[in-house]
Amino acid sequence: MYDLLIKSALLLDGLGGAPKTGALAVADGRIVDIGDVDGAARETIDADGLALMPGIIDNHTHYDAQVTWDPSLSPSPSLGVTTAVIGNCGFTIAPCKPADRERVMRNLTQVEGMSLEALLAGIRWDFESMPQYLDMLERRGAAVNLAAFVGHSSVRTYVMGSDATERAATPGEVEQMRKLVLEAMRAGAVGFATSTSPAHNGAGGKPMPSRLADEEELAALVRTLKDAGRGVFMLTKGGQTKVEFLERLAAESGRPVVVAALLYSSTNPQGVFDDLAAIREANARGRRMLGAVSCCPLSMDFTLHSPYTFEGLDAWKAALPLKGEAYKRKLADAAFRQAVREEIARPAHFRLFNGEWDKVQVVESARPEYEQRTVGALAREARRDPLDFMLDLALAENLDTVFNALLLNSDEEAVGRLLRDPCSLVSLSDAGAHLTFFNDAAFGLHLLGHWSRELGVLTLPQAAWRLTGHPARVFGIRERGALKPGYFADLLLFDPATVNRGPNRRVFDLPAGQPRLMASALGVHGVWVNGRRPIEELPGKVLREFAA
Ligand SMILES: [Zn+2]
Repeated sequence: MYDLLIKSALLLDGLGGAPKTGALAVADGRIVDIGDVDGAARETIDADGLALMPGIIDNHTHYDAQVTWDPSLSPSPSLGVTTAVIGNCGFTIAPCKPADRERVMRNLTQVEGMSLEALLAGIRWDFESMPQYLDMLERRGAAVNLAAFVGHSSVRTYVMGSDATERAATPGEVEQMRKLVLEAMRAGAVGFATSTSPAHNGAGGKPMPSRLADEEELAALVRTLKDAGRGVFMLTKGGQTKVEFLERLAAESGRPVVVAALLYSSTNPQGVFDDLAAIREANARGRRMLGAVSCCPLSMDFTLHSPYTFEGLDAWKAALPLKGEAYKRKLADAAFRQAVREEIARPAHFRLFNGEWDKVQVVESARPEYEQRTVGALAREARRDPLDFMLDLALAENLDTVFNALLLNSDEEAVGRLLRDPCSLVSLSDAGAHLTFFNDAAFGLHLLGHWSRELGVLTLPQAAWRLTGHPARVFGIRERGALKPGYFADLLLFDPATVNRGPNRRVFDLPAGQPRLMASALGVHGVWVNGRRPIEELPGKVLREFAA
């Protein structure tokens, strides 16, 4: 007797094979039969031509904090995700000494747009080490399967305390960090994650701890993966971090390297393709490297209270630590504005905002006639400079004006080339982070609906492979990411004619009633994790043994 039998489905194997119509049977959480299957089952579903593929593996999430108060990991399971990789960019909450908790939460608030009130009210700190954190996840359960990176910034803070955001580490401190990384790897971390991106600033506008590491520290920590004999190294890099250096780390450690975030910028159109070309050459020399790309345009809602869009600019640093009236005076200051203008006008290898004022829209203003219009157009009409226009409007409205900036990855021809590149990894949903700025947790449905069905950039089997079999292979996630007898029954049943991501909406369901943007699904007919429905129960497993 099967637990579940799904009949007459268009089966996408997750490995890129041609679709076949048939049935799939599940027992004890695993796929047991595929093809011409019939028999008794506790639940039988006539899919009537709907498509069935392995569940989506979201390899770039930031659910580390949310999972402690919301093991349902909403909204990801409703969007077809059955496995989430957490701890990306190295922004984890373990290891963490009790004395550092507030520091870590303040950093997360700034760098990942998680409300401090929500983190203070929400995080359950019943762990200190990374092994304890993994045990806690296992004890409490989760809706989807979890694979966790050990994070550089947390390890650095654990060893260096408040100095972690101030200075390079001593050899003794690097040695202590190596021990923590090794301990985490032995306990079942999926790899080691870090960031050198100038967009990643913590409390008070200080760089996140990992950005203070020199190349020797980073190289020493990545070599720990060689000692562990497995694990993926992931990094979100700033323009100053060269692919050549990362190739050296790949060679020294013998481990796969995932390089984020390769987002297309129309003001530096060659940048991401140069990085991908360097990654391709490294692979030709025998390294295993991938460029993490996104299938979503990067657009952000923001107010001048916390304008992530601008906070990576050097010229903005003068404003970052300021609060209240002092901050407003800085925004009004002519010399500050001039410095921002000059920096934006200079070419940059990677920068979130590049002066495209016609892609910055007023979303909510005390002057409704401005809403849905761009700052570029409004400034032209008023014969004003666009930066002056935006800042003056915000200052006149107590900084409450909501803007949206379409920042990167909006050129579909270019993004299509990134998605097809053999050295790219479809990634970067950032689910669980930037909660009021954007929500790309439905990236997988967007790949299936928009990039495959609407644009034909990928065939349906290719899109399914990019979301399942491919990340499973990269991260060594065993017995998942394919429809094969014996594999775990992580499944997504959807209508290929309608699948897509739906609109995002603002909800207030975080701890302390804090807001976030919520994503929605179109054309999803069923999601199973280990053969069970994640929306109703917590069938996810903590993955601790990897083949990579
Ligand atoms: Zn990230």
